[in-house]
Amino acid sequence: MPADVLRIALPLPLPQLFDYRAPGAAEAVPADVGRRIRVPFGPRQLVGVVAATGPAGTDAPPLREALEWLDEQPLFQGESLATARWLARYLHVPLGEVFATALPAGLRRGDPLPATAAHGRALTAAGAGAVDTLRAGGRPRRLAELLRAGPVADDLLDDAIPGWRAAARGLEERGLVERVALDASALPAAVQPGPTPTAEQADVLAALRATEGFTPVLLEGITGSGKTEVYLQLIAEHCLARDRQALVLVPEIGLTPQMLGRFRARLGVPVHALHSGLSDGERARTWAAAWRGEARVVVGTRSAAFVPLPEAGLIVVDEEHDGSYKQQDGIRYHARDLALVRGKALQVPVLLGSATPSLETLHNARAGRYAHLRLRTRAGAARPPRVRVLDVRKRALHAGLSDELLAAVRGALDADGQVLVFRNRRGYAPVLLCHDCGWSAACPRCSTDERAMPMTVHAGGRRLQCHHCGSRRPVPMACPDCAGLALQPQGVGTERIEELLAARFADVPVLRIDSASTRRRDGLARELAKLGDGPGILVGTQMLAKGHDLPKLVLVCVAGIDEGLFSADFRASEKLAQLLVQVSGRAGRAERPGEVLLQTHHPEHPLLQVLVGGGYRAFADAELGQREAAGFPPFAHMALLRAEAKQAGAAEDFLRVAAAAFNQARDGLPHGQARTLLVSGPVPAPMPRRAGMHRAQLLLCSQARPALHAALDAVVDGLHALPEARRVRWSLDVDPVDL
Ligand code: ADP
Ligand code: ZN
Ligand code: ZN
Repeated sequence: MPADVLRIALPLPLPQLFDYRAPGAAEAVPADVGRRIRVPFGPRQLVGVVAATGPAGTDAPPLREALEWLDEQPLFQGESLATARWLARYLHVPLGEVFATALPAGLRRGDPLPATAAHGRALTAAGAGAVDTLRAGGRPRRLAELLRAGPVADDLLDDAIPGWRAAARGLEERGLVERVALDASALPAAVQPGPTPTAEQADVLAALRATEGFTPVLLEGITGSGKTEVYLQLIAEHCLARDRQALVLVPEIGLTPQMLGRFRARLGVPVHALHSGLSDGERARTWAAAWRGEARVVVGTRSAAFVPLPEAGLIVVDEEHDGSYKQQDGIRYHARDLALVRGKALQVPVLLGSATPSLETLHNARAGRYAHLRLRTRAGAARPPRVRVLDVRKRALHAGLSDELLAAVRGALDADGQVLVFRNRRGYAPVLLCHDCGWSAACPRCSTDERAMPMTVHAGGRRLQCHHCGSRRPVPMACPDCAGLALQPQGVGTERIEELLAARFADVPVLRIDSASTRRRDGLARELAKLGDGPGILVGTQMLAKGHDLPKLVLVCVAGIDEGLFSADFRASEKLAQLLVQVSGRAGRAERPGEVLLQTHHPEHPLLQVLVGGGYRAFADAELGQREAAGFPPFAHMALLRAEAKQAGAAEDFLRVAAAAFNQARDGLPHGQARTLLVSGPVPAPMPRRAGMHRAQLLLCSQARPALHAALDAVVDGLHALPEARRVRWSLDVDPVDL
C-alpha cells in the first residue's frame, strides 16, 4: 500500500528534504504543500513545512509517520512559497531554515495560528448617557469621549491614551464600556488630513500613480523633504482605496512610536507594527492577520520583509541604504533585496526611499532598472543646515572637543536650542594604558595576527568590556605587568564626552543615548522625553542618526570621525558618508535654521571635501567611479565563505578544500564566465580570533552573477558532507556587506 510521501523541509543545517508518511490515515493532497507538520526526528520532535509530495518508491524503506498537521491550510502558498524557494536557492541555504526564518517564533515552535479578530472598546447604552458625569480631564472621561464616535480598536487606544486599559477596566466594571470584536474594516474615529503636497511631491506622486505592476522606484529625497508624506499618500491611494495591503519596512532604529502614531493618525485603518520589541504572541498575531489579509498596513523592521501579503498593493523600503536590513547571522538575507524579489512576484511597485541611497541602488537607477524620482528641497518651513568643517590640528581638546566647538554649543544653548553631539564610539575610552610601562588592557579571547584587541573602558573608568565578544571584567587596581598605579584611559567615547559636557554645562540636561538605554520598547522616546522642550544636549552614537523628530535641535556636532576615513573595508567610505549626511539631517528640522560642525584632523580628506562641497550625490558619483575601476560591487558580485574553529588551522583546512572545489567548478563553466570568477583565499578573517575561535574566510567574486551562482550551485551542498566540515562552524554569505 504505497502511501504518498510527504517531502518535508526541516529547520536543520542540512540541504536535503526529509520523507515521511502523512499522520493517521489521511490521504495526501496537493494542498498539503506549505502546511506545517510535526515530525519525529531521532529522539526529538521538529516542526517542518511540507515542500513537496510524491509517490513512494517501490523499493524505498518504510517511512516514519509524521505526528500531526499543525494547520488546516498552508501557511506558505503562491508567492510566499515561491519566494521561500527562491531565497533558499539564492542564498544556498536549506529551505527548512528559510521557512523557519520567515515565521515568527511562536509559529516556528508549532503554536497554532492565533485568532486575530481585532478587538476594541465601545460605550454601552448606559455609558453613552454617562460620559458627561465622569470627572473632566480624567482618563476615564477622555476614553469615554473618544468612544463617543464609535468603537475604537485597542491598538489605536494605545496611541491615543497611555494607560487607558486601567480606565477601561473601571468603566467596564460599572457597565459603561464593553469589549467588542471589530470588523476588520472598522475605522479609527478621526483621520487627520495631510498637508497639501508641494510641487515636487505632486510631481513624484503623479509619476508613482502612473506605475502599474512591478515597478522598482528609487525616491531620493533629502532629509525632511517629505518622503514619508509621499508614502502615506501612496498607501492611501494605491492600497487602501483599491482594497490592497501595504508593507512598509523601516530600519531598526526608525520604527518609533512617533512614526507609528503618524501612520495611524493619517491612514484611518489599523496599522500593524512588527519588530523585535514585541512579544512572541503579538508577532504571531500580526503575522496571522497579514496572512488572513486582515492587516492592511504593516510597518516593520527587517524580518517583516517575510510577512504574507495575499492582497499586496505596495511595498515601501524606507532608508533603503540602512545596514540593519541585512541579517548578519543564520539566513543572511537582505530585506531590501527580498522586498524587490517579492514585489516582482506580487506585481506591485516597490518604493525605495533614502536621502543617501546605497551605491547598489544608485547603480541600478542609473542603469535604468529602477525609476528615479527626486525631492530636492525640504517641505514646510525648514531649510537644510549649514555645514562647517572644524580643523582641530594643534588645537587643545577637552574629551576630544575643541574650544570652538564648545563655544558653539554654549551659543546654541543660550539661544534656547538643543544640541546633538555625535561620536561613533560607545564607552568611556577605547583603551586603558599603563603610563609607566606601556601595557594596555586586551581581550584574552580576541586578536588580530599582530595584536590582541583592546578592551573598552566603561562605567566611568570602572569596567572593561570587549566590543567584539562582549566579555567584561573590572578595571585592575594596578598594572598587571609592572604593578604601577599609572593606568590611564586613552581616547574618547561617548561616556567621557557626557562627563565633560555635564560638568561644563551644568545648567542644562545632558543625556547620553546608547543601545543599552534604548533596547527596551519605547526606550528612545522615553529617554528623549527627559530632554523636554528647553535647551539641552544629547550625546550618542549612530543610534541618534535618525528616528525621532527633534524640532528644537539647532546644532549637530560630529566629533572624531577620523578612524572611519582610513578603514580597510571598501564600503567604509559609503557608510561614513551616509552617516554624516543622516546625522546632519537631524539639525534644523523645524523653523529654526540648523548648523552642523564636523570636527576633524583631516580637513583636506577627499571624502569630506567632496561631501561638504558637492553633497551626497557628488560623493556617490566619485565613489562609484572608484568601485568600477577596482572591480568592486556593485560592478561585481561576491559571496563569502566563513569558517571558525576551536583548533588553529581547522578553518583554513576546510576552506582550502572548498577553494579547490570552487576552482574545479570554475573550470566546468563556459569559458567567458569562468574567466570572471575569482576565488581568493583562504585568508584570516578581519578579526582572526574572536571569543576564542580561530576564524578564516574565502572570497568568491565575479562580474557575472550567473558565474558566481553556478559555482555555488555546484559546490555548496557538497560542503556539508566534507570530513573537514566536522571540525568547523561555517556559513555562506551571498552579497556580503562586511568583508
Ligand atoms: P522625510 O520622510 O523625507 O524626512 P517627512 O515626510 O517626515 O520627510 O516630512 C518632513 C516634515 O515636513 C514633516 O514635519 C512633515 O509633516 C512636513 N511636510 C511634509 N510634506 C509637507 C507638505 N507638503 N507641506 C507641509 N509640510 C510638509
Ligand atoms: Zn605597567
Ligand atoms: Zn573579546
